[in-house]
Amino acid sequence: MEPPSQVSIPKKKREMQKQEADAAVYMNFMKSHRCYDAIPTSCKLVIFDTTLQVKKAFFALVANGLRAAPLWDNKLQRFVGMLTITDFINILHCYYKSPMVQMYELENHKIQTWRDVYLQYSDFFLISISPEASLFDAIYSLLKYKIHRLPVIDPESGNVLHILTHKRILKFLHIFRRQIPKPAFIRRPIKELGIGTFRNIATVQETASLYEALSIFVDRRVSALPVVNERAAQKPL
Ligand code: ADP
Repeated sequence: MEPPSQVSIPKKKREMQKQEADAAVYMNFMKSHRCYDAIPTSCKLVIFDTTLQVKKAFFALVANGLRAAPLWDNKLQRFVGMLTITDFINILHCYYKSPMVQMYELENHKIQTWRDVYLQYSDFFLISISPEASLFDAIYSLLKYKIHRLPVIDPESGNVLHILTHKRILKFLHIFRRQIPKPAFIRRPIKELGIGTFRNIATVQETASLYEALSIFVDRRVSALPVVNERAAQKPL
């Protein structure tokens, strides 16, 4: 039997140290930057009073090219939640009956009415972050609460400064990409790294109705749905 190689031990140790350092690259970056740093110098922000009609809120988001807005409760004098595309999907899915029946709820419901119906069994509140908190904390909250929108609120004025999203954080990382060491794993295939979904993918057929698509969004709690034709639908994804 050959004696264990003396040279390979420090090499292995070096490799392990490199792997550990690699794993911490992005975490260290996120820990060393504040949410404030990732806020753009100018951006559009819309806030809805909870007494606004759901339908008007929807048109206001579309007209402004926005995906979400914080909700202000005038009685409580504080922000109480968010209104996002997921909420509109839930509203449409809940009240749609047929193309022949008008959705009176959508016409008449105020945001507060919808929240009373939808959130009656849960204790929902606004999840927000301070501009001084690190980006690491922001990512932690986005993951922990499984949300895509995190309002940055100035603790002194109580104003919403920005709504942080995964996209904005990635953009910030991209701006600094040349100053961050490149970890070795960045060249490995995403499947090997376990990033993404490779099994049991929710899809919708191109012939499906909009209502069916909405149902899949609601049932599977996904935020993207590949549209497939019959041939693709037969192949296991
Ligand atoms: P999107 O529809 O843009 O993907 P989310 O996945 O973040 O948005 O929204 C999922 C649910 O969580 C929605 O009902 C939304 O109102 C709620 N929500 C999103 N962000 C927050 C937040 N910061 N605080 C409280 N609730 C939130």
